[in-house]
Amino acid sequence: RQTISLFSSLPPTPLDEPFSVNGAYIQDSHPQKVNLGIGVYRSEDGAPWPLRVVEDAEKELYDAKNVGRHEYLAIQGDRAFLQLAADLVFGFGKGKSSAPAVIEDPRSRVVSVQTVSGTGANRLGAELLARNIRPGCVWIPDPTWANHHTIWELAGVERKTYPYYDSVSQSFNFEGTIRTLSESARKNDVVILHACAHNPTGADPTREQWDALAKLCNAKGLIPFFDLAYQGFASGDADKDAWAIRHFFNDMHMPEFCVAQSFSKNFGLYGQRVGALHVVTRPAVHDVTQDLQATLCHLIRGEYSMAPRGGAEIVRTVLADQRLRERWFEDLTTMSQRIQRMRHTLYDELLKLKTPGDWKHIVNQIGMFTYIGLSEPQVLAIREEYHIYMLKSGRISISGLNERNVGYVAQAIDDVVR
Ligand code: PLP
Repeated sequence: RQTISLFSSLPPTPLDEPFSVNGAYIQDSHPQKVNLGIGVYRSEDGAPWPLRVVEDAEKELYDAKNVGRHEYLAIQGDRAFLQLAADLVFGFGKGKSSAPAVIEDPRSRVVSVQTVSGTGANRLGAELLARNIRPGCVWIPDPTWANHHTIWELAGVERKTYPYYDSVSQSFNFEGTIRTLSESARKNDVVILHACAHNPTGADPTREQWDALAKLCNAKGLIPFFDLAYQGFASGDADKDAWAIRHFFNDMHMPEFCVAQSFSKNFGLYGQRVGALHVVTRPAVHDVTQDLQATLCHLIRGEYSMAPRGGAEIVRTVLADQRLRERWFEDLTTMSQRIQRMRHTLYDELLKLKTPGDWKHIVNQIGMFTYIGLSEPQVLAIREEYHIYMLKSGRISISGLNERNVGYVAQAIDDVVR
């Protein structure tokens, strides 16, 4: 009888830091504990906040008593949802596009499939490119959302990094990025770009810098891969947050690139797993979109058959109805403004305390996260002594702050940096 399990010598796997920090926070019974670890929106009460418009749409869907509501979707996903999702990213139907004249309708250059949220879109895109384009490598920003590494490792593509963050100026390292990609990237290499609200630093390129990045990708034949996890959530304005993608598409005529779109944060539908992968194709004599769609559906079918339908129906219901859309914009404003307010309050508190250091980046950075600027020992000390949880890089989720705990957090930061 075999006594050793087939699984007794599995290679060690890294812990997922945001989820393990969240687990440690839940276990902690300290009354003043603060969770700045996980990237989810929290209200002023520190509670989850189902968007009001989502609750309205859910009610509408429920009342409609559609007997087909639990049926299978197409492998591609919910087509009406996909068209609305693509419109949201690319701004189709919002006036003139300067896309190359060969193709009348710029929509026809984009193949969209529904995915298991943003993670699934990143994964499917990686799988598509790994199997069919065989890129020399993928260029991943350093630092980045840690799952980019896992996703591309599993897709079997060599990973290289470009220096995204300048810790002295606490902003996007434009020179370092351009230098690295100019000197070392090769044709058909993939470049991961956070479309807005870079996770974990909250530091984004300026419009001029995006323009230079697009020119570089175009000149070198690189394949941009946009990760769009915070559209509308970052600035409160869904058009503004999609600016970089639309610039690549409309103004820079970027021939082929991918967009991984998530509705986790901007609709608060984290566990519903709503997302899409959009692949932009070259306007070509031979239309490749049908083959591309078939290839994506083949990958989806073998992996999980199709994405779940519930959350996508909610998003579709909202985006298809002008009245609900307006309500969604209001909810986006509520979330993004609360985050902005918390950035300013934390900054003001640190100024009041005369905490050593320059904290201006807290208000300059955008979105859910800030690289607060604490070292790993300081992060551990703040957890040990104050029960405040953040990632060891010093990434904090601003949405974990509220009027009641922000003074306490500022005091704790002040203490550990002195
Ligand atoms: N990409 C980035 C940069 C993220 O921060 C996240 C979530 O935190 C995701 C993708 C994917 O999230 P989800 O799979 O929930 O859509």
